Amino acid sequence: MKFTFLSLFPNLISGYFSDSILKRAIDSKLLEIEIIDFREFSNNKYKKVDDFQVSGGAGLVIYADVLEKALKAISSRDSHIIYLTPVAKQFNSYDAKRLASNKKHIIFICGRYEGIDERVIECFVDEVFCIGDYILTGGELASLVMCDCISRHIPNVLGNAESLLGESFEDNLLEAPIFTKTNIFSKKISNLSIPSEYSKGNHSRIRALKNELSLSKTKYFRPDIYNKVRICKIDI
Ligand code: SAM
Repeated sequence: MKFTFLSLFPNLISGYFSDSILKRAIDSKLLEIEIIDFREFSNNKYKKVDDFQVSGGAGLVIYADVLEKALKAISSRDSHIIYLTPVAKQFNSYDAKRLASNKKHIIFICGRYEGIDERVIECFVDEVFCIGDYILTGGELASLVMCDCISRHIPNVLGNAESLLGESFEDNLLEAPIFTKTNIFSKKISNLSIPSEYSKGNHSRIRALKNELSLSKTKYFRPDIYNKVRICKIDI
């Protein structure tokens, strides 16, 4: 799968792919990353890409024509163009799975300043996403969050595909508490015992306990998604 990032600050993006799981995925040709400085598409002799808002008001807006040129140069019929913006539905793990399974090439437009000319969204963008109810200085982090999350759902990107099972947000539940096997800790940590069922080896009882702990955690931390949970009783 290919990801293209259109950004005015490419260096903010490149570092993220220089290590760990995503670097390995690039080396194994499971992912292709392209980072484009869309300032290159400005006709202006000073490479200006923004201007004041037509309505007045603080802050600059990115020109439509610069992005139009960039998109025309890099997109194909397989491209799916996403603009990161606070004015959108919040990205979630279901979106990540959907995009991983049915898109070949995702182009992220990373906004800066006050954002981009709205007409770019109307004319060229396939989907818009927000990553949370707060304002970032630019779309770079937001696009990396999406790229990272989508990539985990591309077959073979994670060393062990089972890592995806039972993760938080599967079936609207948060993951149950997890602990390491080795037990060499300070006195303070050792005083906290772990659920004894975890180490008894009875997998159906462990599953049932983890399900209960997941429900309690979700109810406590995320009552909004807890309301969507379909409680399934696990036979012990
Ligand atoms: N004036 C915009 C507003 O109030 O909605 C905020 C602009 S923000 C300073 C600059 C850029 O950062 C946006 O164009 C967008 O690409 C990105 N951005 C900021 N917060 C974001 C968020 N929560 N989710 C996705 N993108 C975000």
